Amino acid sequence: MTQHDITDYDLKHIWHPYTSATNPLPCYPVKRAEGVFIELMDGRRLIDGMSSWWAAIHGYNHPVLNAAIENQLKSMSHVMFGGLTHQPAVELARLLTSVVPEGLNRVFYSDSGSVAVEVALKMAIQYQYALQKPHKNRILTILSGYHGDTWHAMSVCDPTTGMHHIFSSQLPSQIFTDAPATGFYDDWNGSDIDELKTVIEENHNSIAAMILEPIVQGAGGMRFYHPEYLKYAARLCRHYGILLIADEIATGFGRTGELFACNHADIVPDIMCVGKAITGGMMSFAATLCTDEVAVTISSHHPGVFMHGPTFMGNPLACAVSVASIRLLLESNWKSDIKNIELILKRELNELKSYDVVADVRVLGAIGVVEMKQPVDMAMIQKRFVDAGVWIRPFGKLVYVMPPYIITEDELIRLIDGLKHGIKFKKHERVPADY
Ligand code: PMP
Repeated sequence: MTQHDITDYDLKHIWHPYTSATNPLPCYPVKRAEGVFIELMDGRRLIDGMSSWWAAIHGYNHPVLNAAIENQLKSMSHVMFGGLTHQPAVELARLLTSVVPEGLNRVFYSDSGSVAVEVALKMAIQYQYALQKPHKNRILTILSGYHGDTWHAMSVCDPTTGMHHIFSSQLPSQIFTDAPATGFYDDWNGSDIDELKTVIEENHNSIAAMILEPIVQGAGGMRFYHPEYLKYAARLCRHYGILLIADEIATGFGRTGELFACNHADIVPDIMCVGKAITGGMMSFAATLCTDEVAVTISSHHPGVFMHGPTFMGNPLACAVSVASIRLLLESNWKSDIKNIELILKRELNELKSYDVVADVRVLGAIGVVEMKQPVDMAMIQKRFVDAGVWIRPFGKLVYVMPPYIITEDELIRLIDGLKHGIKFKKHERVPADY
């Protein structure tokens, strides 16, 4: 197919994420991807700043990950998980339980992050049901959060950015509290926890679980908050018999500088969701882990089973490549690689703080965020990035990068130069009309 055939058919028939079917944003056809580069069909090679939405931490077309899939393919690509098990599933569970915060000993596999969140929410409600507390059936969360696009995952996303009003008559109504105000690098302000405390004191009898993205709120605003908030939240939840669900789907596997963001606060949640980077971005896969206490309580009380079982649960290809990806990460110098990325991002993005169009610049681990004062014109800015040889996909006011960990210093500087070119404005320049 020619480049024109692809874009033409795509435009007329294929729906892309968060776009109109009739008036979509431009789409760039990709020929291949290798290392830190995405190669377009027109031959342009773009330095990837997105890791395909947090997932491709080792870059693209990695020989170790390819080999893991090829080897697994020789024995089986898939068998149902009901009544059957296999080595890749067991190897992965062993590996996962050895790297996540200690005590999360039980693993439930699923096929995407949103489903892993659905599973976590169901576990929490069923746990309280098993404890004869069916009234504890609502979910508490913080504003500016994002947990996926399926129904109940959506119900705990920020109501404004999640566009709850469209679905308000059908969506379960959950309990929201303010997002933490103290930033990751700020001095901890103890009053930051007051509202959460009040909400929990007043509502704990109806709350099954609290769900949050630890430390980094991603798609809801790219905010980095203080580890003390997480510590207090965990303590409050424990005190009031509320399960804590840590959604580590974006933050897991090193992205924030710790293997899991919960490690910044040294907490162990009752339930934890992982996805995205689990396969190194090779395919869709996720897992929900929980403590023995949660699994045993659910299983020891009527009906004694957990009613969930996706068709592709425990897919051997996904398990095998996840094992390879996690081993690759653990065998690398991931901590210093990510620290290096963090230092370069801080150094190179710092000057943007004085740009008139920029509201804030923040960096944590291998995540760099430039918050603009006005929402960006996506089609225009995307083209400018591509013309500058980088792949950066902003949303709203947020222009951000989270590159593969294998990026070199030179490539990272080129990526940031591309970002600067895309937002273009030199010191004290005025905001152009199309911003
Ligand atoms: N939780 C978080 C924190 C996420 O960032 C995402 C994906 N952006 C999800 C859940 C949903 O994952 P998926 O897109 O794989 O369903």
